[in-house]
Amino acid sequence: MILDLDISSMDNWLSYKSRPFVISGPCSAETEDQVMETAIHLSKIPQVSVYRAGIWKPRTRPGTFEGVGSKGLKWLKNVKEETGLLVGIEVANEKHVEEAIKHGVDLIWIGARTSVNPFTVQEIADALNGIDIMVLVKNPINPDIDLWTGAVERIAKAGIKKLGAIHRGFSTYEKTIYRNQPNWQLPIELRRRIPGLPIICDPSHISGKREYLFDISQKAMDLNFDGLIIESHIDPDNAWSDAAQQITPEGLKDLLRKLILRNPDPADPRVLDVLGELRQQIDLYDDHLIDLMEKRMKVAEKIGLFKKENNITILQSTRWDDIIRNAIRKGEAKGLSAELIDAIFKAIHQESINHQIKVINENSSSSSENNH
Ligand code: PEP
Ligand code: MN
Repeated sequence: MILDLDISSMDNWLSYKSRPFVISGPCSAETEDQVMETAIHLSKIPQVSVYRAGIWKPRTRPGTFEGVGSKGLKWLKNVKEETGLLVGIEVANEKHVEEAIKHGVDLIWIGARTSVNPFTVQEIADALNGIDIMVLVKNPINPDIDLWTGAVERIAKAGIKKLGAIHRGFSTYEKTIYRNQPNWQLPIELRRRIPGLPIICDPSHISGKREYLFDISQKAMDLNFDGLIIESHIDPDNAWSDAAQQITPEGLKDLLRKLILRNPDPADPRVLDVLGELRQQIDLYDDHLIDLMEKRMKVAEKIGLFKKENNITILQSTRWDDIIRNAIRKGEAKGLSAELIDAIFKAIHQESINHQIKVINENSSSSSENNH
């Protein structure tokens, strides 16, 4: 599905001072001093364009700090006047949008707990109709690319011309080193569906821990993301929310200095020649993979028919365990991760079962017809 979103009619609003476009500031606005002090430090980092601070906080459990509310918007207005930084907040309903507009907020983002809900996203889109403001749509909590795309579409349809997406990772039940799984293939797919839509990475909410911020930021740059939104606080360990993932403005400066920005669009003909040739090799191998897959499925269909004739179930789990175990062993000997082999072979196996089921059902319907 390639969407019918006319990104070309949108403003080239990410004409940032320097790549990446950086949004930073505390997870939550806590006090007037904390907001201003953090902002003053950040305003001295040239890459920082927008100051973020959560005003209304969606917390997992009740009884924790849920944000200072509208009074924090006045603090942000002061930040804007004092430092010249643009200011941005999360909105989760129509009232938040109205308050943000009233207080001259420059950028709003729709949080992960809101972009899951098409009713709420539409309510926000309706409140934004005809307003000139930057809007970023965070990925929904669950890894659902259609839901994310749909939320972007709703905001685009409201006529927002400064639109983008934020990749903040996806919730999983499994415990991993990250707070939210990056699932990089989803933002990559969003870029394929809506070419030209700016994508900002949120390493803070992906990692949940400050020590992983750099690696995730570097990866986002290597994947040619347009910007970063990173939580920062003058006293991170004592932050009222998300303490473990926030860094000091000094830490942010250091992180940005260390980032390696590679060229997304090489112009040198020699570089392009070599790259072009290597890409041709890749394309050739991809064609081989597809041919092989087709051949494999044809054999699976023959097996399906044979099983049908001999009244054998499609699935024999011991045979399948053997295949995966052998493939992982062979793959590892060739430097391929067990994770890759496992994912590929599970997908191939599922496809194989689908082909067998199809063949068996086609056969059984024709044979039942013959019985009449
Ligand atoms: C946030 O940016 O502070 C936030 C709550 O993020 P998310 O919606 O990604 O959880
Ligand atoms: Mn946060």
